[in-house]
Amino acid sequence: MNTLLFTPKIDTRYGSGKIKSRIGLEANAVAFTDHDDLVLLTREHLNKAPLHCILVDEAQFLKKTQVFQLTEIVDKLDIPVLAYGLRTDFQAEPFEGSLYLLAWAESLTEIKTICHCGRKATHVLRVDDKGKPITMGEQIAIGGNERYVSVCRNHFKLGEI
Ligand SMILES: [Zn+2]
Repeated sequence: MNTLLFTPKIDTRYGSGKIKSRIGLEANAVAFTDHDDLVLLTREHLNKAPLHCILVDEAQFLKKTQVFQLTEIVDKLDIPVLAYGLRTDFQAEPFEGSLYLLAWAESLTEIKTICHCGRKATHVLRVDDKGKPITMGEQIAIGGNERYVSVCRNHFKLGEI
């Protein structure tokens, strides 16, 4: 099966246009910006080879118009789209992309993470170099495990990791 992978250009943790999993798998992806039309990018690839699936990583960074474009890929090009991302930012506010994915997706699958207390982790705390929670700042700051900690809602409120 031929899958086209999309990843936001701002996520350069593994080099632009790369998706890496925590178990070590790695694949090349099309890096998109806020201004890219995902239908157009998909059509360009369709001209070269048939596509069976589209996968979008870090889908919280999609714009509303791009989530709509993903629905067009499903509805008009008849290609299934899978999108993975975070629900909320470090201030517990929804990301634009996540908001419309949650609203328009046909199917939602929750990938569960556990807080240090054993409860379901639904929130993400941003931490500084010393591991102390940061509550103010820009919505987007790229980082991995060293910068973000998944916690339950209560420990998010308490700011405890
Ligand atoms: Zn907790």
